[in-house]
Amino acid sequence: MKKGRVFSGARPTGRQHLGNYLGAIKNYVALQDDYDCVYCIVDLHALTTMDEFEDLRQNTAEMALDWLAAGIRPAETIMFVQSHVPQVTELHTILSMFTPLGKLTDLPTFKEKVAQSPHNVNYGLVGYPVLMAADIVLYKTDVVPVGVDQASHIEFTREIVRTFNFRTKRQALIEPQMKNTEYPKVLGTDGAQKMGKSLNNHIELAATPAETQAKVMTMVTDPQRQRRTDPGRPEVCNVFSLHKTFSPNDVAMIDSQCRSAGIGCVDCKKLLAKNINAHLEPFRAKRAEIASDHQQVWNVLRDGAKRATAIAERTLAEVKDAVGLP
Ligand code: SF4
Repeated sequence: MKKGRVFSGARPTGRQHLGNYLGAIKNYVALQDDYDCVYCIVDLHALTTMDEFEDLRQNTAEMALDWLAAGIRPAETIMFVQSHVPQVTELHTILSMFTPLGKLTDLPTFKEKVAQSPHNVNYGLVGYPVLMAADIVLYKTDVVPVGVDQASHIEFTREIVRTFNFRTKRQALIEPQMKNTEYPKVLGTDGAQKMGKSLNNHIELAATPAETQAKVMTMVTDPQRQRRTDPGRPEVCNVFSLHKTFSPNDVAMIDSQCRSAGIGCVDCKKLLAKNINAHLEPFRAKRAEIASDHQQVWNVLRDGAKRATAIAERTLAEVKDAVGLP
């Protein structure tokens, strides 16, 4: 017996990296054991900040491929593309009538986006949180996994639901609960900023073992360790942070050997690369198998959209009835 329905959406960012894997995908996979999961690739959201569009379809397929290879089980989990279920845009329009404009323009995330892209402050950007609310409530979501930085958006969704249900005097929409799934921030190879493609400090899951090793060897370590004979401080070293995840059997040895200068950073990184590659071997094998028939990914996404549409149609019918649309 599952505990309820989980919904989560992610922008189509193409091939996923270790930061995506540790911060979200592993959790997506684990949640399947306890919840009915609905995982959506939110391509409409992506349009709000895009200047060029030619990579969107390919990025959608690559991300779906990584999710499947990592262990999303499409026979039980609904995995689909946001724009394949157009009911979400209709619900977005209806919910927008229940959302004060001032609230949207006051949101810190809106202000951040405006500061990042002052040349492209579009209408979709303002309504972004309403579309996100529509994504969540359309699928009768009970639980949304969140990190600290998304909590305000879910609270915003809960407010819209309360307003809608109060004003329509119905309980057509479910107020979603938040499930905190915070994972320590995964830093990039620069050891300073969050791992991300735009900073080119990422390590792709689908990279070859040689590519992975090359990236790991560029990682910044303890800046105070200038010579091989200097003792190191694992607690400030990002290589050590990743060892904690990928080298559970070696982590105590590395900790003491680093502090006593018994191991050098080059050997320490080689060991990390070896352990990351060993960890990702089953992922990469499965990815290659699925990628050999590229249509397979789109079939999964189309099937997911069909199942998502069945839920969406029911919710939308209740919403339209609640607001008196004929
Ligand atoms: Fe970091 Fe390893 Fe070098 Fe220590 S030995 S500073 S943990 S890379």
